[in-house]
Amino acid sequence: MKQLIVASGNAHKVKEFDGLLEASGFEVFSAKVCGGMPDVLEDGDTFGANARIKALALRALAPKDAWIVSDDSGLEVDALGGAPGIHSARYAGEGASDLHNLNKLLLELEEQAVANRAARFRCALCLIDPSGREQFFDGACEGRIAKAPAGAAGFGYDPRFVPQGDSGPFAERVDSVKRPLSQRASAI
Ligand code: IMP
Repeated sequence: MKQLIVASGNAHKVKEFDGLLEASGFEVFSAKVCGGMPDVLEDGDTFGANARIKALALRALAPKDAWIVSDDSGLEVDALGGAPGIHSARYAGEGASDLHNLNKLLLELEEQAVANRAARFRCALCLIDPSGREQFFDGACEGRIAKAPAGAAGFGYDPRFVPQGDSGPFAERVDSVKRPLSQRASAI
């Protein structure tokens, strides 16, 4: 079976990849098999550029016959002009926790008394095969920002992101519900 290593230090993302790629013919591994995901400067100006930075950084440490996939993702809120976007992981500052980032977003929506809470998760994947060929895939999941938090599952902005057609946020849904609806599923 072909080995696919997920270039991410985020255990939640790796678990989602594992579930989504169950029938893909790949055996999915986390970056731990390469000694862990190295620290990288995500200074690209698109999700795709940042995904490429992560994939190349891990490829340098990976076995030569492995496939590498990376994911750069984030939340776009229409009323905030698409913010936090590519800055989702450090919206409240370098090294900010998921909770700080989420609180900053909510404060901004409150301050502007925003009525339109439309938002979407975006995801760019960079897949590199053993020969070094790079391929890029984009995915999105439309939804809205909930007025109240709910649930304890998932990560990041999940406590407040309600996917279109659902009544509760991702954090209230078990993995098997979030998985097929997510921006990662769409990109895969
Ligand atoms: P990345 O790991 O550099 O791609 O950063 C992505 C940012 O968006 C982090 O703040 C994540 O917590 C957040 N994020 C990405 N995907 C999801 C998701 O599926 N649910 C909730 N937050 C997410």
